[in-house]
Amino acid sequence: MTEYEKIVMLIKTEQLNTAIWVYDIDQSKIVWANTAALKLWNSPSHEELLSRDFKAGQSEVIKESLLNYKLAFKRGEVINEYWSFHPKGEEVQAFCQFSGFELEDGRVGMLVEATTSELISSNAEVGSVTILSIYQTDGKLINGSLPFIKYFGNKLSHLNELFCDHHVLEKLFVITSQNIKFEDDVRLKTMKGDQWFKIDAIETTQEEGNKAILLHLYDIHERKTIEQTLRKQAWEDPLTGLINRRGLTHHIEHNINNNIPFSLLYVDLDGFKMINDSLGHGKGDDVLVEVSFRLKVNMNKDDIICRFGGDEFILLIEHTLGDDTVAVRCDAILHSFVENFISIHSRDLTLSASIGVACYPKDANNFEHIIACADAAMYHAKKLGKKRWINYEKGMEHASKRISVISQKLSFAIPKQEFSLYYQPIIDMVTGNICSFEVLLRWKNEELGFVDTEETIQIAEKTGLIYEIENWVLIQALHDLVLLKKVINKNVTMAINISGLHLSDPTLVDTILQQLNKHHLQPKDINIELTERVLFTQINDQNNPFRRLVDNEINISIDDFGTGFSSLAYLHNIPATTVKVDKSFLESIDNNTVTLECIHRLVGALGMKSLIEGIETEAQAKTLFALGFNIQQGYFHGRPKPLEYYLSTDYRTIYSK
Ligand code: C2E
Ligand code: MG
Ligand code: MG
Repeated sequence: MTEYEKIVMLIKTEQLNTAIWVYDIDQSKIVWANTAALKLWNSPSHEELLSRDFKAGQSEVIKESLLNYKLAFKRGEVINEYWSFHPKGEEVQAFCQFSGFELEDGRVGMLVEATTSELISSNAEVGSVTILSIYQTDGKLINGSLPFIKYFGNKLSHLNELFCDHHVLEKLFVITSQNIKFEDDVRLKTMKGDQWFKIDAIETTQEEGNKAILLHLYDIHERKTIEQTLRKQAWEDPLTGLINRRGLTHHIEHNINNNIPFSLLYVDLDGFKMINDSLGHGKGDDVLVEVSFRLKVNMNKDDIICRFGGDEFILLIEHTLGDDTVAVRCDAILHSFVENFISIHSRDLTLSASIGVACYPKDANNFEHIIACADAAMYHAKKLGKKRWINYEKGMEHASKRISVISQKLSFAIPKQEFSLYYQPIIDMVTGNICSFEVLLRWKNEELGFVDTEETIQIAEKTGLIYEIENWVLIQALHDLVLLKKVINKNVTMAINISGLHLSDPTLVDTILQQLNKHHLQPKDINIELTERVLFTQINDQNNPFRRLVDNEINISIDDFGTGFSSLAYLHNIPATTVKVDKSFLESIDNNTVTLECIHRLVGALGMKSLIEGIETEAQAKTLFALGFNIQQGYFHGRPKPLEYYLSTDYRTIYSK
């Protein structure tokens, strides 16, 4: 602004409410003021105001501040601050803009434009009076302004007594001694307790040539408290009290911005969805709270634990751990899951977790990528059989990308007629005949080719497509059963796998009954295969369709027995007709038949049939037959095949062994 422009502006200001005056810093006198300034200074006339000597009442700290302003004006700076003035002993607060003004004799004066607090909002930042204080470079207080005394009392003698956090004070000393301005939000000890202040501190040289530290403080306590509450609300997962995804983003970005290496442990619960869907969300929530508790127990106090999503947790551990340390931490987490989670119907429920580990900066250097790496490693751990942890390796993320591709393509599989059904024979070893077929879903996508069935089912469960898909299977399988009965044997039945999710669908039983009716089939013509986890968790729920299946005389098989809860002691609680012993029992069949023998006897004693699946060799078939497993299924007896295969061959003779 040129001098001319300034004069024009000053004249114009007579019409403004803003109090404007020019102050001669060296003489401590106001040399020009507009009418509004008279009001602010509680002065009857220009003459009176211009005759006032401000030196008398001026504290050392104000004097020092003004000298610093003068230096700033010489550099062309403009200073905006909220000040308190004390005309005739009365306090007046105003938001001020201080700028340099060339006085008549060429010296630098100060142009002040002050808006009183009635005219400005009480925004905490702007509305905070500037609290001035000055110290010797060793921290000893020289002087504090009136607002300073109001906040901190008049007993304070050293900066040490002011700061809550001594690390911050040390930083202040170091930075100011290098002639750099120190700025931060800090907690200080006021007479009302610890409060937040915005601080800026500079080293200044006093008139006598001594160095001193000049502190400007602004009360931001209210704003900071509100901010912290809001942040807590926005960053916290209300169920577990852990930080949420947003909170984690902040921490990760902070570490990345400051180049602080860290490890991310992506923890995903195995089989949680089933618990949630079958036991209800209340119990599911209890489990999640317990999980968060166990994670906390295993972590150090500086580690960050986040509930990232439904049953996904992320642990952020600063400084990249060595492989050994990662192993110790992950093992501890996995081990903490060994203990029961909840007890339902006097049955203890255990859970497991899969963990993926990724490190910054080794594996990735931004938020999205590091999460994707840990997620991909976790997905890998799941694929390898869950209950384990895996370090991220390059290329793993392609697998998790695959999930989203599959999910997307799966939603079009029915309209695009990409599904087909394969039927695997189940043999009655006594007669040598096929007594049943298990229907198994097959999906061939034009780009993906055949997709693994278990993978398809898992993704269908995650995306909620499972209902639609299994209804399609049901309708098609019952239609095909009529044909199979014609060519194979009128007594053959159909075993249909139903997901635990679908079982909770109240319309499921009606759909089954409707389809049976449509094809003139009986309930005994089908067998619904449910995994033991589903059966166990839903057993005592009176409203569950599982009960309605039983009430409608639809047979139930316990599928994959031995892979989940597998407790023989609880079998008697389950009104199933058949127990399908999982193929994993066959791995040790050559040297240990005792377990299988025992299972067979106990299942028989409970009035159920035992079926063994996954028989691949003649030797296995014979051994198992000798143990009493009369009903068998496996590649040895027949691989799953499409309907057409059976329609073209007569199997009654083939299985007469
Ligand atoms: P599952 O119900 O235990 O079905 C038996 C699985 O074992 C089938 O795998 C079958 O092909 C395979 N298998 C049969 N005999 C042998 C053998 O001798 N050796 C070996 N190694 N494997 C054998 P598939 O078809 O891949 O199906 C996998 C799982 O997918 C099924 O396991 C079942 O749990 C699920 N599934 C298939 N279709 C459906 C469906 O419509 N709904 C639901 N919920 N699950 C389905
Ligand atoms: Mg099955
Ligand atoms: Mg099975």
